[in-house]
Amino acid sequence: MRSVHHSVLLFSLVLPSCGGVEHYTFTRFAMDTAVEYTVAAPSHSKALAATDAAHAEMERVEKLLWEGNPASEIYGLNQAVSAAELSPETRELLDRWMTYSMRTGGAFDVTVKPILDLYGFGGGTHRVPGGAEIRLALAHVGIAGLRPAAGGVTKAEASIQVAVGGVAKGYAIDRAVQVLREHGIESAIVNAGGDLYCLGTNAERPWLVGIRDPDDPDGVIAIVEVSDAAVATSGDYERFFESEGVRYHHIINPRTGLPARHLRSATVVAPTAEEADAFATAVFVLGADRGLDTADRERLHALVVDTAGVISATPSFPGHLE
Ligand code: ADP
Ligand code: MG
Repeated sequence: MRSVHHSVLLFSLVLPSCGGVEHYTFTRFAMDTAVEYTVAAPSHSKALAATDAAHAEMERVEKLLWEGNPASEIYGLNQAVSAAELSPETRELLDRWMTYSMRTGGAFDVTVKPILDLYGFGGGTHRVPGGAEIRLALAHVGIAGLRPAAGGVTKAEASIQVAVGGVAKGYAIDRAVQVLREHGIESAIVNAGGDLYCLGTNAERPWLVGIRDPDDPDGVIAIVEVSDAAVATSGDYERFFESEGVRYHHIINPRTGLPARHLRSATVVAPTAEEADAFATAVFVLGADRGLDTADRERLHALVVDTAGVISATPSFPGHLE
């Protein structure tokens, strides 16, 4: 057993060789996090070539979407007064991200950026905004402020701003996995800071993914079995600051403009890393009851840890507690 990055631990990464196929592990950096590639290939050089191509794709996605990068299309969208031109890829993503908002009763909302900025989560210094500021900023939050238009999107007002942090990493993982597949890779894990996709199986058995204890970076609360599926975790222990003994973290309830308070962590297992990422953020905002109901209705699996340390999961959750 070996700990990997922040929110998820992985088990059984290094396998006994099977049919002459070894797993090779490489670490790269993108999307503000370490990305670990575990790739089964006939040789080190083939594993490396596939990983380099996959990671180049991840970097392409980062450049395309990361709102902090002045060259990105989302940066351009945020700067635009009204109409913003977008590539078909970004336009399709934005359309899909808006459906996530509808499917989560607004808990997942990429237009939450004005609120993130108030707390200094968009860069800048961390601070606790006042209620009046939050109310003002909330007036500019909501996907109704984005209208799909020919060749891009139209903003209802200049202050509509998009943050991709809740979902772009997932999409980048999916794209990287697709490139691995195109290189003939049939068994791999792409792990971007604890959000990961498990391609194929681990020597004909499911991959085992450990879910981290929110209070103990080395502790495991549950083990999930996955193959050809993604696991993503949102928690209050990753990015936060403290003021007067209160923790302010970066997952915002778009209704209140406050950091979501119900849970310590939410893990979602989904067919794509993009969905796992977005729905983990949403379930974290929704809390145990509504979050698990929403995941179940979407035919996704979820496991949550509440503020009292109580663990609950959807009935079909593909794993067991430790
Ligand atoms: P991590 O980045 O640690 O994996 P998440 O996937 O939960 O965590 O993403 C948190 C990020 O999502 C925040 O930094 C912010 O950019 C964005 N975000 C915060 N609240 C919301 C929300 N309610 N809906 C969509 N995105 C959000
Ligand atoms: Mg997320």
